[in-house]
Amino acid sequence: MWSKRSGISKDGSVKHLIELTDHLCVEAVWIPQENGVNLCISCQVGCPNKCRHCATGTVGFERDLSDLEIIGEVGLLLAEHGDGKGPVRVLFMGMGEPFLNYENVISAVAGMVEKGLIGSAQDAIVSTSGIASGIQRLATEKIRPRLAVTIAAVPDEKRVRLIPTTKFFPLADIMSACRHFQTMTQEEIICEIPLIDSFNSSVDDAHAIADFLSSLTCEIQIVPFNHFPPSAFRRPDPNGLSIFTATLKSRGMKVAVKPSYGTDIAAGCGQLANTDASSPSTVRQ
Ligand code: SF4
Repeated sequence: MWSKRSGISKDGSVKHLIELTDHLCVEAVWIPQENGVNLCISCQVGCPNKCRHCATGTVGFERDLSDLEIIGEVGLLLAEHGDGKGPVRVLFMGMGEPFLNYENVISAVAGMVEKGLIGSAQDAIVSTSGIASGIQRLATEKIRPRLAVTIAAVPDEKRVRLIPTTKFFPLADIMSACRHFQTMTQEEIICEIPLIDSFNSSVDDAHAIADFLSSLTCEIQIVPFNHFPPSAFRRPDPNGLSIFTATLKSRGMKVAVKPSYGTDIAAGCGQLANTDASSPSTVRQ
């Protein structure tokens, strides 16, 4: 595997293009924090899901990464940048749907713990677009990363316009799987809302999401949309974001707005698309 820096953000994040042994590429991002570092990594070359809020969905799907390749991404980033003198957190929020590469993702998390790259499995977060069968299965794992689920919009008729797999895993199935996960694990679930102006950002949208999530112990993480070409979606303005957030809080929901790191180098949430897939490479593992 080879890696080269393909962008350095003004916020300190560094995007890497990682070339695999068969010359296919994925992207990964090193994101320094006040306390430690977040590593946003990929688990598939491209993604078959084609979510409309995500640039990865535009590049097509090539293949799954093996567990060793996933561990290798983490190893490359840490070898080049270090751990920020604090805890390392691994986010499966780069390219690919983790639960469509389930065995390799779980095996990679176990391998990272074994090699001491992360302190425990709970230092990894697996973010799914809502593959309900994967959520059910994760509940049975002994070595288990934290679970994040992209809810995005309610009801199904709206959500499917953003996340096509809603046709196979409707919100009722996702909720049923999340309840099962919580019964089995007693763990809080992160529910992500990619927020898009004039699509899912109204007060009514916030109430629909609050109604849907009211029975779950969760933290809602709002991710304001990060632009990528040729998407016509727009990020909500600060006032709209504030009203949406306040509406959820008024309903008693635990809410955070996720900071946008690396958007100036197309390394933010939903922006990874191998936009700099040119050689030469610089770091080898
Ligand atoms: S949001 Fe995740 S599941 Fe959807 S296309 Fe992007 S990488 Fe794939």
